[in-house]
Amino acid sequence: MSDTADVAIIGAGPYGLSLAAHLRAAGVDYRHFGMPMRLWQAAMPQGMFLKSQGFASNISDPAGTHTLEAFCRATNRPYASYGLPVPLDTFISYGQWFQSGLDLAVDEVLVTDVTRRDGGFELNLGGVERVRARNVVVAIGVEHFAYVPEPLSALPAALCTHSSAHKDLAAFHGQEVIVVGAGQSALESAALLHENGAAVKVLARERELAWNGEPLPPDRPLLQRLREPEAGLGSGLGTWFYSNHPDMFRKLPKNTRVYRARTALGPAGACWLRNRVEGQFPVLTGHAVTSAEPQDGRVRLGVAGPDGASRVFEADHVIAATGYRTDLARLTFLSEAIRSGLRTVGGSPAVGRGYESSVAGLHFVGPAVAPTFGPVMRFVFGTWHAGPAVARRLSGVSGTRSQPAVAAGR
Ligand SMILES: Cc1cc2nc3c(=O)[nH]c(=O)nc-3n(C[C@H](O)[C@H](O)[C@H](O)COP(=O)(O)OP(=O)(O)OC[C@H]3O[C@@H](n4cnc5c(N)ncnc54)[C@H](O)[C@@H]3O)c2cc1C
Repeated sequence: MSDTADVAIIGAGPYGLSLAAHLRAAGVDYRHFGMPMRLWQAAMPQGMFLKSQGFASNISDPAGTHTLEAFCRATNRPYASYGLPVPLDTFISYGQWFQSGLDLAVDEVLVTDVTRRDGGFELNLGGVERVRARNVVVAIGVEHFAYVPEPLSALPAALCTHSSAHKDLAAFHGQEVIVVGAGQSALESAALLHENGAAVKVLARERELAWNGEPLPPDRPLLQRLREPEAGLGSGLGTWFYSNHPDMFRKLPKNTRVYRARTALGPAGACWLRNRVEGQFPVLTGHAVTSAEPQDGRVRLGVAGPDGASRVFEADHVIAATGYRTDLARLTFLSEAIRSGLRTVGGSPAVGRGYESSVAGLHFVGPAVAPTFGPVMRFVFGTWHAGPAVARRLSGVSGTRSQPAVAAGR
């Protein structure tokens, strides 16, 4: 294989795989590095279901043939574009089928160093190989950005871990576990812990839990469909805008983009998870953790309750289901010179229409560019935009953009 390429893709999750498919179809010479679907295999709990609907969980390919639905049909798995949660293992297998079906070669190595060289880039593949590329696309998802807030971050890993640290929650059978958080990850982890024999408690600082509504009937009257359209990220006009118009989102004022990228589609549980949570184990809303310390091999949390009163909770372990925050300082595989050359927006790399950053030739796709293209970048659904847009830019081909297959999947 050549040690020079026009494009190097770093990351082989949905965004990297989708981009590879689009570059290949556009005839672009590229090399691809990363562990295919690693976040989904290593950082999500067994037994999890996707929150996104079937039709909104497609990895974009140029011909639109390698959809989740096509995969499920080919492998005899149940599928519905709407209303049937997608099991995690189905989605992992789908990603692998997408890669092999489209014959996308991925070097399963981590890139340890990217430096500027002769107007392009040099990539160090763990000291084993060096590759030069004129352009680099960073598609590394969220795995570098797990966020544990203070005071939990000061606890040792034996007592407190981020939710992404757990593949097998059955390991907590018979233990007392506190889950901190109010989003899908917190609520589903808690349900899985409970179902696997742990004594679980959820602490959420939100005053109450938010739950997504039941799927809307597709045959509802036209006026209702106009008022509350269904889109890749969910229902409602705002959500429809985020799902289908990332180019227009990019034109919004910077502060609005940063705020919307962070707060839109805030923490909420999927409707199908509700009866696995409510009445099953204690969920204490309005409770904020104020102190955390180890005590006799367990953990002791000081908590401010809704009435302002302080309470103390003890457990064998705390799981911080507290999300992800882009932090460029954690991308240590990018040289200091590259990182300091990045213009940022809301702490994330600012990118232009073709996802190119302020470092010429360096592109970012996926969750890291949500403050530019909007919340859709936090979801697989956003591959409909990123893959074609970056391929167009890197192949020098301009053309009309395909719309996401939102309606097609219904
Ligand atoms: C618990 C949980 C549930 C979720 N559920 C959904 C859902 O239902 N629907 C949805 O649309 N989204 C969901 N998401 C969001 C999901 O993470 C993103 O949509 C998606 O993973 C983004 O894809 P990606 O390709 O950007 O990154 P990832 O899937 O994270 O892939 C990152 C890739 O980068 C590679 N990589 C990282 N560092 C390097 C390096 N130095 N060198 C080489 N390769 C590297 C990894 O090996 C991996 O291949 C969920 C997230 C979590 C945490």
